[in-house]
Amino acid sequence: MSQALLQALGLGATNSGTYLGDGRWSEATGAGTLRPTNPTTGEVIAEVHATTEADYEAVVARAQAAFKEWRNVPAPRRGEAIRLCGEALRRHKDALGSLVALEMGKSKAEGDGEVQEMIDIADFAVGQSRMLYGYTMHSERPGHRMYEQYHPLGLVGIISAFNFPVAVWSWNSFLAAICGDICIWKPSNKTPLTAIAATRICNETLKAGGFPDIFFLINDAGTALAERMVDDRRIPLISFTGSTRVGRIVAEKVARRLGRCLLELGGNNAIILDESADLKLAIPAIVFGAVGTAGQRCTTTRRLIVHESIYDSVLDSLVKAYKQVEARIGDPLDPHNLMGPLNSAEAVEQYLAAIEKAKASGGTVVTGGARLDRPGHFVLPTIITGLKNSDEVVQHETFAPILYVMKYSTLDEAIEMQNGVPQGLSSAIFTQNLKVAERFLSASGSDCGIANVNIGTSGAEIGGAFGGEKDTGGGRESGSDAWKVYMRRQTNTINWSDALPLAQGIKFDL
Ligand code: NAD
Repeated sequence: MSQALLQALGLGATNSGTYLGDGRWSEATGAGTLRPTNPTTGEVIAEVHATTEADYEAVVARAQAAFKEWRNVPAPRRGEAIRLCGEALRRHKDALGSLVALEMGKSKAEGDGEVQEMIDIADFAVGQSRMLYGYTMHSERPGHRMYEQYHPLGLVGIISAFNFPVAVWSWNSFLAAICGDICIWKPSNKTPLTAIAATRICNETLKAGGFPDIFFLINDAGTALAERMVDDRRIPLISFTGSTRVGRIVAEKVARRLGRCLLELGGNNAIILDESADLKLAIPAIVFGAVGTAGQRCTTTRRLIVHESIYDSVLDSLVKAYKQVEARIGDPLDPHNLMGPLNSAEAVEQYLAAIEKAKASGGTVVTGGARLDRPGHFVLPTIITGLKNSDEVVQHETFAPILYVMKYSTLDEAIEMQNGVPQGLSSAIFTQNLKVAERFLSASGSDCGIANVNIGTSGAEIGGAFGGEKDTGGGRESGSDAWKVYMRRQTNTINWSDALPLAQGIKFDL
């Protein structure tokens, strides 16, 4: 099955991890080998040759040359290039979605959903390519006109996480491309195959459509090449998606060279259920948010803050729902299964360590709490009660399906708990009380980049700007006006009068 799938996407048993441009993939082998494994079985899927330093230099040089051409292509024409990418992804959705499931371990439906997100952002970017608007302003001087415009920024380095192995790249690269930039992608070293496949699909269609190279790919056996890219002054924007720990290192390095950083880091997302919450909506939202992608989404629901009056019945319903999920854990490519494995053996260790820590802090494992005795990295979805929001394990993002359920009595207390973590990505409240909903969305409500009412924390649409505050990094990508980060802004003043009036009425007589 996996060999046929690889073949369908132009992959083999060994693959180049470096797209050099002009339809060429590097043949260099001296920088080490990545061996992505199938998290369902623990077996190596295929090998990928990492990028050498010499090839990195060649890629940057070609990207710089490509930028000189691409920045002058009219933006709607750049949109046409991305329209072709979206069409190609539609044709390959089934195969690429399966490869995401195979290599990352999320369910086939979620793998397909991730490719659908790529298609959606392609469509969005096509429209946006005709709307790179700047303001015009009224000058304070007679016979003057002022306006601002957005120009292409240059090279964009994209470093992505394993859990959304292709969608995050497309959020960045499709918008960057219509903005006139050239992208160099360094994917997670756990998911190089989906990256090669996505790059191949887009680049082959771009070449057939007569477009120049806009998407380059490098792969890193360790972190040295990624660090080199982060330090590279030729790359004005580094878009980094990953853990807060690594994001902090990246941000400090990019700040040192006064570069621009787009950070999409960890979350510690909570759902609040007030007394009036509609549990028909809330229970499935909580289960999907906490268990979907085996708890490996940045927007995964990790904390549930429940009004004391409904706490017992909510917990009861959740445990019943979790037992149903337990019966449907397995190969993510089997559509019967609702939950796949964790991505790696280390992730299983982190899951077990968090559970031990929770117990040591006085927590009770209500359901789950163990790995499954079978090949692959399978664990049980877990609910833990009896902890305080301030407990260290609750404050930390463990990238696994562990839900901490806590009680509250007043809304102020619930909002304080929701906001009382270092991260600030996604948040939600279930309520039928308009005043409570509006309070949650107000300036004194949720402090997150995403705040929802009567839907859960995960599963954002591409139309909104995506990202979060505090330790989540403050970046925004995808919809709304997130495109602006990929462009440089210029204010222009044109004097069409016969005089030279100075601003602020200053006189400078010569
Ligand atoms: P990670 O931080 O381990 O790795 C992310 C990327 O950084 C990978 O490509 C990795 O190879 C690279 N990297 C590692 N060390 C580096 C260094 N020193 N310099 C430069 N690059 C380096 O994260 P992960 O385990 O792949 O992904 C999970 C994390 O990503 C979670 O914290 C999750 O919340 C976060 N995430 C956030 C978002 C978001 O939009 N906010 C989306 C997806 C994932």
